[in-house]
Amino acid sequence: MASGDPLAELVAALQRLPGIGARSAQRLAFHILKTPREEIDGLAAAMLSVKDKVTYCSICSHITEIDPCAYCTSSERDSRVICVVEQPENVAAIEKTHGFRGRYHVLMGAIAPLQGIGPDDLKIKGLLARVGQGLPDQVQEIIVATNPTVEGEATALYLARLLKPLGVRVTRIAMGVPVGGDLDYTDAFTMAKAIEGRREM
Ligand SMILES: [Zn+2]
Repeated sequence: MASGDPLAELVAALQRLPGIGARSAQRLAFHILKTPREEIDGLAAAMLSVKDKVTYCSICSHITEIDPCAYCTSSERDSRVICVVEQPENVAAIEKTHGFRGRYHVLMGAIAPLQGIGPDDLKIKGLLARVGQGLPDQVQEIIVATNPTVEGEATALYLARLLKPLGVRVTRIAMGVPVGGDLDYTDAFTMAKAIEGRREM
């Protein structure tokens, strides 16, 4: 797709990024154009480094440089409790509380029919596989920490329906988290309270 117009190609590439419309893409492209070469070298190198070095954990789908990730392999963490979140960045929000010592499972999204995202698009099969194996460290509790949005709630209900028949306890974090909000914007104290006050599903 070499159109021979480097600036137009950059604008087109930027516009494919999430949340970047035509105007923003053009503004960014002109910003890049007038930024010193060394700074752009650094940006390009950081982007390539992420692609080369960071991957997804084959067990929990969290981002990691080593597969499986440190959360999945740590002997310090309780493998009988799994906290389910929508995105890798949500793990950081829960880690900030220093109150959760179990393992994680990242769904890579939430059920959103209007956007064409169904259960098969999420990392649900892997979660079921984790629940169904691993005696004597059998999973006993799944804490569903999807976002308190319509999609997050629908996903939580869907998971509870699938998981409860497997004989595992399914809990939902308490909604001290602002409704319609995102776990990323929740402070550590509120998040700790949300986990502490989790309720049976
Ligand atoms: Zn992992």
